[in-house]
Amino acid sequence: MCRADNSAIPQAIVGYHQDDEGDWVAELACGHNQHVRHNPPWFNRPWTTSNAGRETMLGQRLGCRKCAIGAPKD
Ligand SMILES: [Zn+2]
Repeated sequence: MCRADNSAIPQAIVGYHQDDEGDWVAELACGHNQHVRHNPPWFNRPWTTSNAGRETMLGQRLGCRKCAIGAPKD
């Protein structure tokens, strides 16, 4: 048996935008969006709060759970 609940597919960050509440959302190469501040503490990402930090992370990969579950693109 293989359960995919905790799996996430690494996807490169291709851009960012802010949602209605001003929280940063990473746009991934797969077409999914991922909030980068609404994660558990161990996923806290101080880089999201600065331009320089965000630019540094462009092209880096985040695990995309939406890919893992086959979710439609955002
Ligand atoms: Zn994805």
